[in-house]
Amino acid sequence: MSNDFLKQVDRAFTRAAALTDQDPALLEHIKRCKSTYYFTFPLKRDDGRLETIEAWRAEHSHHKLPTKGGIRYSTEVTENEVIALATLMTFKCAIVDVPFGGAKGGIKINRANYSDRELERITRRYTFELKRKNFIGPGIDVPAPDYGTGAREMSWMVDTYNSLSSGELNSLACVTGKPVAQGGIRGRTEATGRGVYFGVREACAVDDDMHEAGLKAGIRGKRVVIQGLGNVGYHAAKYLSEAGAVLVGLAEYNGAIHNPDGIDLTKAIDYFRAHSTLIGYPGANDVENSQDALLLDCDILVPAALENQITSKNAGEIKAKIIAEAANGPTTFQADEILRQRGCIVLPDTYLNAGGVTVSYFEWVKNLSHLRFGRMQKRFSQASQRRLVDSLQNLVDKKFAPEDLAQITRGADEADLVDSGLEETMVDAYAQVRNTWDELRKKHGVDKVDMRDAAFASAINKIAVCYDDLGIFP
Ligand code: NAD
Repeated sequence: MSNDFLKQVDRAFTRAAALTDQDPALLEHIKRCKSTYYFTFPLKRDDGRLETIEAWRAEHSHHKLPTKGGIRYSTEVTENEVIALATLMTFKCAIVDVPFGGAKGGIKINRANYSDRELERITRRYTFELKRKNFIGPGIDVPAPDYGTGAREMSWMVDTYNSLSSGELNSLACVTGKPVAQGGIRGRTEATGRGVYFGVREACAVDDDMHEAGLKAGIRGKRVVIQGLGNVGYHAAKYLSEAGAVLVGLAEYNGAIHNPDGIDLTKAIDYFRAHSTLIGYPGANDVENSQDALLLDCDILVPAALENQITSKNAGEIKAKIIAEAANGPTTFQADEILRQRGCIVLPDTYLNAGGVTVSYFEWVKNLSHLRFGRMQKRFSQASQRRLVDSLQNLVDKKFAPEDLAQITRGADEADLVDSGLEETMVDAYAQVRNTWDELRKKHGVDKVDMRDAAFASAINKIAVCYDDLGIFP
């Protein structure tokens, strides 16, 4: 399956590359992964047994440094999967104008089979091995969370890196997605799901596209199915439902639930935590085979688990008109063709889940500047807004309501600035991708180009400029 994933990514790249005017030799260079580090290390289990752990880090592109991408803990991890994910990272960073090359790492374990102490030993040893081979560092390669990892693993990584690089001023910037107390940034945990929401909102705001898909503009009332209720899926579901979407289906690996009238996310998550399954949740009907949830009647399907979920086998039966790729690589190349022919809008992973790397970029900048966003400006803007409001009140001889006053004169703190920067990035990138889509459709035919092609093509052109500037390909 994972071998296929790399082929899928290569085929998607090749398809889009053919729509650009770039030199074929440069395109081949851009496509290829620049370096991959495979290693094994021993783990002493809590019961004294010895086990060999397999791990990877792939740096797909060095056209900008550092490279950037998450670390995945999964039994599905293979070299080709890591390379495929690193490849997607390169294009993702270019699409949202984040100045990194793409990378990805993985450890082949099922985290559920290890104690917290074992996971800590694995994570620290992994970091040690990366440092030893120069595969981690604030200006070299900066990991982040991905499937099966989170802030806790990042805090072990930064602590290990720090202990190996004493006196390195910028060492906190060696990894992002850290807890706030350890140099992390407010808003990183929810960033990918929040970005998914912004991306879907932008897509749903384009009247013509919605009309073409047989939908009304806007998120309110749209029926949504979410596959995977981890970090990305949960936050995407939360922000979409807060904006008025109706969650009609939720799927986890061991079962799904369906209710056309809507499912209360908080209650369903509480149930999942208590029972380790969604099956039996009283507010919905059970869908025993979780994969069947992808076929439920809805407007927006959000795959937020793993790759290769929408394939040539099920694409023809999918009812959703919008596929919002919160996960990396959820749709295979063949499925893409089927969905395009059926008039579905696929919001591609390379754009839609870029919120995580965007806020990781903010965290990296924060670590390098050694200054929390908002610290210098917050009080100053509060005071100047207050003076403006006071003058206005004196002029009109009227007073604002206290809650309005508090809102108007509030200075932006780190969380506000991160959210605003994320929104700006997702809105701007959507406009870029949408424009490229328009241009390419005019040139090659409406049914010949999808949004994935446009996102890839736009990224390829941006990366090609870097090589022009370097003078490598005259
Ligand atoms: P996670 O580990 O927090 O959550 C994944 C969830 O999917 C888990 O709850 C798991 O049980 C569930 N799941 C696994 N197989 C499933 C199946 N067959 N059906 C339904 N549910 C299933 O991982 P995450 O960080 O949310 O990542 C999810 C996807 O998003 C991955 O493809 C990842 O590469 C991508 N992504 C993550 C980030 C990030 O910031 N975490 C950023 C960009 C992209």
